[in-house]
Amino acid sequence: MAPPDPVRTPGTKGGRFRRSGGAWATFARRLDSPVVTVTVGVLALQGDVREHVRALTSVGAQAVPVRRQRELDGVDALVIPGGESTTIDKLLRAFDLFGPLQERLRGGMPAYGSCAGMILLADRVIGGIEGQQTLGGVDVTVRRNAFGRQVESFETDLAIDGIDGPVHAVFIRAPWVEEVGPAATVLARVESGPAAGRIVAVRQGPLLVTSFHPEVTGDTRVHQLFVEIVRDTL
Ligand code: GLN
Repeated sequence: MAPPDPVRTPGTKGGRFRRSGGAWATFARRLDSPVVTVTVGVLALQGDVREHVRALTSVGAQAVPVRRQRELDGVDALVIPGGESTTIDKLLRAFDLFGPLQERLRGGMPAYGSCAGMILLADRVIGGIEGQQTLGGVDVTVRRNAFGRQVESFETDLAIDGIDGPVHAVFIRAPWVEEVGPAATVLARVESGPAAGRIVAVRQGPLLVTSFHPEVTGDTRVHQLFVEIVRDTL
């Protein structure tokens, strides 16, 4: 598909501040730069594929389901939805996607993993099943099904670094991040209740992971944050 024509913000003078540094230059460059359409794939083996596609579309990305390597080859970034990490792991192998996807991630492709997606992007897992593997990329140890029976599925408001105002977060048999390596940055922790203090959102360069499911609430700010991360890498 041909790329869309770049859209210019009306009324801005091209290149005026381009060579100077500082915040003004960054601001001017933003106004001046064409709006780049990013193509974000949603891994479509299991989980809330449609909801992620809808959220990504509403924040201005072109969103496409990804099931085959040629579809993966055509995207700038990938969302790995929630579902069951053990099943997604197996399906990735069955669809011959595990290796190619890992290669893209190692090559710097941005990715966002929610819940099971977080497990798949984690370097280490506690509580996985025998033989469970992850794609890796984020220097964290996650604990699968971490919240225990009483808080197996719950909702709470979170403050997330990089997003203004509280985000309502839905957790469904979610993992939490037990350990964060030096390369990764914590973006959010549970604020109250039995799981207070637990890490539930982390970023490492172009990789973003959350324990919760932002695609089910209609609040698109996490997707917006991810699409901004993707735009910054292009
Ligand atoms: N418990 C699931 C797993 O281990 C994750 C649940 C989810 O993605 N909602 O993969």
